[in-house]
Amino acid sequence: MLFDQLVESIIKPLKVWPIQIPPEDVEECKELCLNGHMGKEEWVHSRPDGSEVTLSAKDAIEEWDDNTARHECVHELQQRNIPDIFKDLPSLTHSDLSSDEYKDLNYHNRPPEIMAYAYDAARGADKADGHDNTKIYKRIGGEVEKLFNHYVKEYRKALGRTK
Ligand SMILES: [Zn+2]
Repeated sequence: MLFDQLVESIIKPLKVWPIQIPPEDVEECKELCLNGHMGKEEWVHSRPDGSEVTLSAKDAIEEWDDNTARHECVHELQQRNIPDIFKDLPSLTHSDLSSDEYKDLNYHNRPPEIMAYAYDAARGADKADGHDNTKIYKRIGGEVEKLFNHYVKEYRKALGRTK
């Protein structure tokens, strides 16, 4: 990478994408995923006992709880409508996600995740799952936090939330 490109990639402000809003009905969310890009993928799932299994898309999607289905549906819609949001993302392996610090640097700050986590936060789904997405993005700070807050506001407006 040329020095100029490197500098540009570091200081370039994050692009604001139009928010992608999953359907209200969770079964519809699952169907969208199954019939879309995600339906062609294989999924690695962690079991409560720590073991990992590889599932077909159909089996994996059937195991999703409601909040997971909605979050993944945001990604499905991103793939359909704004595929460039995935451009130039570094690859991630499952085991990479074990530490909070690593996750913040390589996972939570990925443009598709900033949007999907903002959607979860706007619905209050993160708190129900024992996470606090606002806290995560506050910890990351900077442009990433600003973009997250922008998406949360947009989603709340779109979902008609007032508090
Ligand atoms: Zn995600």
